Amino acid sequence: MAFRGVDYFAVDSLFSHEELMVRQTARRFADERILPVIRDCFRDGRFPKELVPEMADLGFLGANLEGYGCAGMSNVEYGLVMQELERVDSGIRSFVSVQGALVMYPIHTYGSDAQKEKWLPALAAGKAIGCFGLTEPGYGSNPAGMLTTARRDGDSWVLNGEKTWITNGGISDIAVVWARAEEGILGFLVEAGTPGYSTSDIHGKWSMRASVTSSLAFADCRVPDSARLPGARGLKGPLSCLTQARYGIGWGVIGAAMDCYEAARSYSVVRKQFDDRPIASHQLVQEKLAWMITEITKAQLLAMQAGRLKDRHKLEPAQVSMLKRNNVAIALDCARIARDLLGANGITDEYPIMRHLCNLESVKTYEGTDHIHALVIGEKVTGVAAYK
Ligand SMILES: Cc1cc2nc3c(=O)[nH]c(=O)nc-3n(C[C@H](O)[C@H](O)[C@H](O)COP(=O)(O)OP(=O)(O)OC[C@H]3O[C@@H](n4cnc5c(N)ncnc54)[C@H](O)[C@@H]3O)c2cc1C
Repeated sequence: MAFRGVDYFAVDSLFSHEELMVRQTARRFADERILPVIRDCFRDGRFPKELVPEMADLGFLGANLEGYGCAGMSNVEYGLVMQELERVDSGIRSFVSVQGALVMYPIHTYGSDAQKEKWLPALAAGKAIGCFGLTEPGYGSNPAGMLTTARRDGDSWVLNGEKTWITNGGISDIAVVWARAEEGILGFLVEAGTPGYSTSDIHGKWSMRASVTSSLAFADCRVPDSARLPGARGLKGPLSCLTQARYGIGWGVIGAAMDCYEAARSYSVVRKQFDDRPIASHQLVQEKLAWMITEITKAQLLAMQAGRLKDRHKLEPAQVSMLKRNNVAIALDCARIARDLLGANGITDEYPIMRHLCNLESVKTYEGTDHIHALVIGEKVTGVAAYK
């Protein structure tokens, strides 16, 4: 049955006709193209790369960027696309987030004209795939400590170091790589096949199984100065990209929460226990459903206000931290509660809940952990940084 949406508070009335049309397009794509394959992809640990051209045709890649073949969607429209994709699987939303917010955004914002002309149309069309290399084995929450270096040598740069937990790494044509140079932290576009650059995929994941996650290694990897992002200097370059991606996550996880809620609600009215009564007739079950729909509604309103502020260029990174932290936390709790309400059935992949639950554990960790976003909010309201 087609997904009808979850809307307790007439939140749909806050969207424009165009926004609802975009959501409908994404919803149909998610239901008709991703849903039929996603369980097997997750089982097999396979990213459905064959869907990339279709997502490109629908304008999902770099959706909220202007020019260069990008769809130029509003940030609310973009958020609704993320929501519908993640309603089916966080791994697919992760692919789109990385391509748009972590690869196309930095090229769009910090790249040279030649870099933009070369890469943005190809990335928007899905003819090229990108990844974003910031995290290192020893530096996750604290990327400021990164050890990867870029040494200037004439008119080229020599990169050395390792990045890990990189979404799309092994399938990328281009990697946005952040490295420490004498001038500070700089960004480079490293093409697949460049001598000294190699990737290896990470296996054994219980989470994000329909997404490729890799390590990147740089051993005297030489790139021309034209591969440096000229507008990026210092950690604020990668952090600004993360803000873009976190914004999309704040919307995306609402989709996962909605799917878990709807699975639990519909199950609870048909599953009977004790005197042939549906489990929905028990007060403890209703309390859980009431909690879920309340938190989903609050998450929807938070995302909506974030989107409206972003469309007016007024959204601050510390607000994005609240959006990401809150919405991921409630989505994860919805998944856990929904799993519980399905009893034993909840642990099987006949239902999407356990897959969402496993995926959301990654979403809680990446793009700034729950703790780190708490510290960002804490710093914002007290003026005191507590990271160390
Ligand atoms: C599936 C997946 C995909 C990813 N994709 C990418 C990608 O595409 N590109 C990329 O660059 N990275 C990516 N990452 C990496 C991700 O961003 C990091 O895992 C994340 O930043 C956390 O780093 P860490 O895993 O090293 O954990 P750590 O930083 O070691 O943290 C471990 C724990 O310690 C806590 N902690 C650390 N410091 C503090 C503190 N000061 N105060 C309180 N608590 C603290 C954390 O909150 C966490 O609970 C991905 C990760 C996953 C799981």
